[in-house]
Amino acid sequence: MPELRTMICLETDGSGGIEVVLPDEGGGEVRLPRTTPEWELILAVETDYSAYCKELRRLRESHPLFEELSDIRETCLQDLTTQARALAETLREIDPVACFTVAAGLDAARRIRDDGSASLLLRSGQRQLLALEEPVRAQVRLRNIFAVTFDGMERATQRERYEKLRSVYPDAVGRHYRMRWTEEADGAPLSDTCSEYVVSSLYELRLLELALYFRQEKRRIARCEYCWSYFVPKTSHATAYCDRAFGGKTCKQLGPNLKRFVGPEQDEALHVCEQLRRRMAARLERYEGALADEQARLFKMDTFQYRDWSELARDARAAYLRRELTTEEFLRRIDVYHELESYDVAAPDAQGKSVFQERIERDVDFDPATAYQTMQVLELGEPEPAWRIETAEEQARRERRGHESLREKYGKE
Ligand SMILES: [Zn+2]
Repeated sequence: MPELRTMICLETDGSGGIEVVLPDEGGGEVRLPRTTPEWELILAVETDYSAYCKELRRLRESHPLFEELSDIRETCLQDLTTQARALAETLREIDPVACFTVAAGLDAARRIRDDGSASLLLRSGQRQLLALEEPVRAQVRLRNIFAVTFDGMERATQRERYEKLRSVYPDAVGRHYRMRWTEEADGAPLSDTCSEYVVSSLYELRLLELALYFRQEKRRIARCEYCWSYFVPKTSHATAYCDRAFGGKTCKQLGPNLKRFVGPEQDEALHVCEQLRRRMAARLERYEGALADEQARLFKMDTFQYRDWSELARDARAAYLRRELTTEEFLRRIDVYHELESYDVAAPDAQGKSVFQERIERDVDFDPATAYQTMQVLELGEPEPAWRIETAEEQARRERRGHESLREKYGKE
């Protein structure tokens, strides 16, 4: 069992509030501001670790300790330890709990070093990296838990959200937490509403907060259909949009317009537009990359033609989303080279889960940031099959199959 001084305490009060208490180095404690489980969880999902991750990647990929064939010395590990500590310290502002758990993990990693042999030095270094990765791993899991539990579940009951979570990630619920005996100053006994829990990792703390969240029905977590952020609706009515603002307008103002207009037919038309864009890009790449005598045999697409088409398509798309064009007019306009077979789009069959959602459900550690890599794909069709580079982002998008925020799908140019 981890020592008590590395444990995180969470105290609940009778009104749904929580306080996280961390032991400090001097034997005292640091009490974080009072909050509620739902807001603490939303904050945890949104914490921006990007600068931290960048530094972490730099350590993993270029610190001399991890270089193959390098002569591992004690000073190398000392240098890593110093850098790891400094990196953990950068978390203090954005996430004090993570700062604390990472520091505790680094301490534990340093303690495994005892005989000074190269393999132990290396192992200690690797353990330090693992400790540094903990907040990021916990966030990936929590994001997946949120996607499963709160995405598209605004019309469900709290109970149904819980059951959904339990059926997909049984390990995330039904845990037991150690509760410390607490009593009031006057000796009143422990009550169910005012309790003190003890956990030893950041992820465990998140699961505990999730369990506490599910104990009540008054406040719920919802996902905004426009921006896809999570929020706590103010009333018990089903609420589709949050109050965040983009360009001076809130999601509540921006969302309903798009929502009313776009359906499977529009999705399909936009998809056709995207396919054409890729086709043009592939033609450009082939044409520009070819020798002069080969160019004569290819579909002519130089930088200027490509730019002209892209601008035309962008304007047409914007006009279509403003409802100034019908689907047919939109497709006719972007079909500059007369290659679409028809301007009639059939709405695809009712869509089930996307591949992206299935991946999330299969693996709580699924991380879109690392799961996709840029690769070459063979595009069949016109006029002959051709290889094309598909970026990680495009793959994720394809696997999402339209399961995205309205802002992502239609709001941006
Ligand atoms: Zn929103």
